[in-house]
Amino acid sequence: MPQYHCMQCQAPFYAQPGRRKRGEALYCSRRCVQDAYQTPHLIAVRFWSHVTQTETCWLWHGKRFRNGYGCFITRKEGTRRYLLAHRFAYALHYGAIPDDLLVLHNCPDGDNPACVNPPCSRAGGSCQSFTVLP
Ligand SMILES: [Zn+2]
Ligand SMILES: [Zn+2]
Repeated sequence: MPQYHCMQCQAPFYAQPGRRKRGEALYCSRRCVQDAYQTPHLIAVRFWSHVTQTETCWLWHGKRFRNGYGCFITRKEGTRRYLLAHRFAYALHYGAIPDDLLVLHNCPDGDNPACVNPPCSRAGGSCQSFTVLP
């Protein structure tokens, strides 16, 4: 089995290449998975590792929802949660967003669903009036 480096502690570990292809086996131990998924500042580090900043938009390279929006996976009490990446970035930057408030895109070069640059987004509207959400 080839050797990889843990995304969290950088320690080398062995894993099946097939699992890596599926985006699994990124961490050396359960402990590191827990840290990466449940410790707030480490969650943020993991989040930004999926982002490339350009002069205007910050582009999400991670998983996407079918409608093009970035999908960021976290865990709460062992359950996977699939979050909208641009919404998560907005909350990191400006603070928590009320659940019923949407974060909409407002990119200078036209709306880009994969963009997670907080200044490209604005909070507004309600879930009922917006049907593009997953
Ligand atoms: Zn590790
Ligand atoms: Zn943008």
